[in-house]
Amino acid sequence: MSETAKLVLDKITRTFDGQTVVDDLSLTLNPGEVTCLLGPSGCGKSTTLRIAAGVDRQDRGQVLLDGRVISDDQHHMPPEKRSIGLMFQDFALFPHLSVAQNVAYGLKGSGKEPAVMAILDRVGLADYSDKYPHMLSGGEQQRVALARALAPKPNVMLMDEPFSGLDNRLRDGIRDETLNILKEEGTSVLLVTHEPEEAMRMADQIALMRGGKIVQIGAPYNIYNNPKDRAAAAFFSDVNVIEGVAQNFQTETPFGLFFTPALHDRTDVEIVIRPQHLKIDFDRNGKGPNVTPTDGVPARGLVTRARFLGNESLVELRMDYDGSTLTASIPGVFLPKPDTPLWLSMRRDRCFVFPCSKQNAAKSSAAS
Ligand code: ADP
Ligand code: MG
Repeated sequence: MSETAKLVLDKITRTFDGQTVVDDLSLTLNPGEVTCLLGPSGCGKSTTLRIAAGVDRQDRGQVLLDGRVISDDQHHMPPEKRSIGLMFQDFALFPHLSVAQNVAYGLKGSGKEPAVMAILDRVGLADYSDKYPHMLSGGEQQRVALARALAPKPNVMLMDEPFSGLDNRLRDGIRDETLNILKEEGTSVLLVTHEPEEAMRMADQIALMRGGKIVQIGAPYNIYNNPKDRAAAAFFSDVNVIEGVAQNFQTETPFGLFFTPALHDRTDVEIVIRPQHLKIDFDRNGKGPNVTPTDGVPARGLVTRARFLGNESLVELRMDYDGSTLTASIPGVFLPKPDTPLWLSMRRDRCFVFPCSKQNAAKSSAAS
């Protein structure tokens, strides 16, 4: 196992043509862990990774490796001196070099063969050393690229959407394989992705990024179950949103009262729930299930559409109380006909309560 390393980005800012793309961003890669930088396209992920690699340089802030400053406004250690492995989506193997030669490319000195063979063996390509890239499948090429990046035994691996060129069926297997190898090598990893499923699958910690900033960081379980705001919740799945207004530290909704002790009177409130956490009940002569403290008050709607998606069924309802649409997801097959009356309740332990994001947006634009 190689030495594990701690890479720190400290208050990094990067501006292109007057536009701040990375905005005072701080991030620590824990040794031996996979950190996923997750966010929508254009939010500054690749720029952050390129600064960590040293192929781009920040305008402000510093990069540290094991407590030592490797880049600030005075010094800039070049990428090849950083013991950092890089892997990109278009991993570009050299077409005229064999698999073994591709892997050996980044290694210095003589006597490379045993190291090359060991790493090819590790990625399951020991029998492919004499083949050329065009003779390999996409998944095999990806493994060669991984072997090439790992051959110099980097302490830190930076990966920018490395799986997005692979087709879906290959991808899951290769992700898991790659993760196993990186874990065994004890490499500290920064993996950039715009796909929440990929981040959930790979990460020890997810850093959720938006507009050049990290908005939330934590273990996948915590980010999914304790999102910081509506957008953070909505990044991981579709969400239903019920609106209300805080009054006397509570907010009244068609699904009963919600306690909102932290919100001032007249604050607009958004109550967010994922489709799989809405509870569905049948209609019994116009009556729904009983009101309970855990599920609140049920509200009735009529089915507008039901779709079977394999693992789950999605049921859309037009709610009696205001005609708005809510979507519930049920494991397995549940395909009620249009206009079937059903009752929904909101499990209180699964709801996220936020001050209205529109209000936040108005406030922050007023402030700037
Ligand atoms: P992401 O990887 O999250 O999709 P990027 O970091 O690639 O985002 O880009 C963030 C923003 O910075 C984009 O608007 C992009 O156009 C801009 N940008 C990135 N690199 C450059 C560059 N070299 N020159 C000018 N603008 C750039
Ligand atoms: Mg990118």
